[in-house]
Amino acid sequence: MIVMGIESSCDETGVGIVRWRPDGTCELLADAVASSVDEHARFGGVVPEIASRAHLEAIVPTMREALAQAGIRTPDALAVTIGPGLAGALLVGVAAAKAYAAAWDVPFYAVNHLGGHVAVDTLEHGPMPACVALLVSGGHTHLLHVTDLSEPIVELGSTVDDAAGEAFDKVARLLGLGFPGGPALDSAAQFGDRSAIAFPRGMTGPRDSRHDFSFSGLKTAVARYVESKERAGEPLSIPDIAASFQEAVADVLTMKAVRAATDLGVETLVLGGGATANSRIRALAEERCAAAGLTLRVPKPRLCTDNGVMIAALGAHLVAGGAAPSELSAATDPGLSVAISQVFA
Ligand code: ATP
Ligand code: MG
Ligand code: FE
Repeated sequence: MIVMGIESSCDETGVGIVRWRPDGTCELLADAVASSVDEHARFGGVVPEIASRAHLEAIVPTMREALAQAGIRTPDALAVTIGPGLAGALLVGVAAAKAYAAAWDVPFYAVNHLGGHVAVDTLEHGPMPACVALLVSGGHTHLLHVTDLSEPIVELGSTVDDAAGEAFDKVARLLGLGFPGGPALDSAAQFGDRSAIAFPRGMTGPRDSRHDFSFSGLKTAVARYVESKERAGEPLSIPDIAASFQEAVADVLTMKAVRAATDLGVETLVLGGGATANSRIRALAEERCAAAGLTLRVPKPRLCTDNGVMIAALGAHLVAGGAAPSELSAATDPGLSVAISQVFA
């Protein structure tokens, strides 16, 4: 069975194609992505109208590229991100998916973007056991409990303010490192001392029993630190600030993820989302999972950022799990809850 996935929730237009194998894994046949990230750079963040326009221009060429890569004319089923994401951006992918599904007469699955970030890991690391997933990107910071990819996902916690990737982008801008700031900040931090400045770790107190996160206090602490140094006329070490900020983010994310997995008694932690490209988040996750006896699964960076393959992988799990197709009348849902893996109408 061959499944196509279409993704357009943020600034990547992605079309992926996978072949479902009876052993519960997927084989990658095509991975075509067009990103509008460069067009947003001068605004310091994703501009929804620009993203929608870029999806409109990219969707048909990206679709053709994916079909050519896979060497097929039509898939057996088609899945698309129906939410969460930017309203106008989602509409482009969903409209295209409906048109192709109708024209090809193949079943249509309207799926949750967040579940795709978890499902994509099966391409590299095989069938997914019950796990805790930590999703960190420019738009999301979630801790999830996944028992089966074709079943609803339980949200254990999420950010109460900024997403982790967004905090990276905002602090990078403050330090004059450009957009998207995550990779630049990660590079700057390589030359810094991560214990130089004791930045706060939000929501890690004994009374924070839910697995939520907060990063806006940390962002403000970095801004106050920079201001106070400038006022005192003292030199600033960008590498030390970057390394200390990055340490605070990585510390909180990995500590809470490992705690959640241990509390629930699951043996696997899965990472997903573009910010998992961060070197310190990866290193600390490895260290702490090893210490806690957990298996860590991290997809390669290309599959951690938004792409169509992840949607194809989730679609394949739903089809194989016997889910009924969605209606072609299914509406986009920019605020879709992670508990809903598939939208029917
Ligand atoms: P969504 O939130 O819908 O998944 P997105 O476009 O915001 O979409 P991605 O494309 O998955 O998310 O990831 C981009 C984010 O990841 C940006 O915020 C970027 O700064 C961050 N990022 C990328 N590389 C790194 C890194 N090495 N360290 C920290 N953050 C990073
Ligand atoms: Mg992106
Ligand atoms: Fe995403």
